[in-house]
Amino acid sequence: MIRCISCGAEYALDEIIYTCKECGSILEVECSPDVSKDVFSCRKSTMWKYKEFMPVDQSKIVSLEEGGTPFVRCQKLGEDLGVDLYVKVEGSNPTGSFKDRGMSVGITKAVELGVDTVGCASTGNTSASLAAYAARAGKRCVVLLPAGKVALGKLAQAMFHGADVISIKGNFDEALEAITALALQGQLYLLNSVNPFRLEGQKSIGFEIVDDLGWQSPDRIILPVGNAGNISAIWKGVNEFYNAGFIDELPMMTGIQAEGAAPIYNAVKNGKKDIIPVENPETVATAIRIGAPVSATKALRAIYDSNGLAETVTDDEILNAQKLLARTEGIGVEPASAASIAGLKKLVETGKVDKGEKVVCIVTGHLLKDPNTAINACEKPVEVEADINALSRIITGK
Ligand SMILES: *Cc1c(COP(=O)(O)O)cnc(C)c1O
Ligand SMILES: [Zn+2]
Repeated sequence: MIRCISCGAEYALDEIIYTCKECGSILEVECSPDVSKDVFSCRKSTMWKYKEFMPVDQSKIVSLEEGGTPFVRCQKLGEDLGVDLYVKVEGSNPTGSFKDRGMSVGITKAVELGVDTVGCASTGNTSASLAAYAARAGKRCVVLLPAGKVALGKLAQAMFHGADVISIKGNFDEALEAITALALQGQLYLLNSVNPFRLEGQKSIGFEIVDDLGWQSPDRIILPVGNAGNISAIWKGVNEFYNAGFIDELPMMTGIQAEGAAPIYNAVKNGKKDIIPVENPETVATAIRIGAPVSATKALRAIYDSNGLAETVTDDEILNAQKLLARTEGIGVEPASAASIAGLKKLVETGKVDKGEKVVCIVTGHLLKDPNTAINACEKPVEVEADINALSRIITGK
């Protein structure tokens, strides 16, 4: 069953619908399987380990073995910050971001429904992922990207997997409005995160964190927030495991936004249940360069209901955290992902996160997604003849 999160109106699982016909609000898929957690233990470590919680026809699953990503204890960084820190490395998914979890379920749904064309608007990773999964399922794929604002690696993926890539003279919010209109005309099946099946896949991040911690909730989960689907999905996941009796505590959901694109943060700061869109969002972290997050209502509920937090970070703080994580723990992430680490640092420094908390930071995408930003943040390699004396002068600094 699909249910409106505002008025409770109900829709069938096989209806193609993105927002409530009664009130216009966003939708959510209901899921409460009767299953023991013992069934998971002998299964392969992908997100389909928890298939009972995935509302699709299991004979039609389209998968690249997404999920089951590294859950890395960061002792050095954690000790520096005074928390018990774990990092969930979503860059290790097949196309290098957590979007693959949502697309596996979303494309499986597209196969079930028998649609021939799928589409999305994207800051980059959604299009990279959709292009790959559409190729695997044999579907035509149309993606709208904000011109000049998509990181190189993501663009390369969308193009290489054979999507019809269209560059929009506008930002992500405008591209999403356009593709949504096309979807409502029936020209394509929309796989942005307004599609509630996307979040069904992404909720598996919550499942895995709990499983990785030995069937325990962390004190806090921190992640970057753009269109606000992922924070909503993870909250849904941990709640489903809570309701199933697998855990008896819930984490404080903590969303981090870039200072130039912070509608969720602004709403939380003012105790509001709705956002005011940011007109011209701007940040180096292009994956969260979003002014009108579609899942804002769900995300705000997640933050309020979990006694969580929202915070902003500057572009400099993001880039510094990206380098810090790469150089103290060996984990390479794209700028948006580093917002979670930058946010944790700021929240510890301002005393909003307590010392000793068990914190999971979700790093959402791989370093190589945005090679230009990575290279610009470093000094150029020295060029020298392949001569041992010249080399030794450089290495010894003499
Ligand atoms: C999509 C994405 C985000 C933002 O996730 P939302 O669900 O839109 O809030 C953050 N980081 C990366 C790398 C992404 O691809
Ligand atoms: Zn409704």
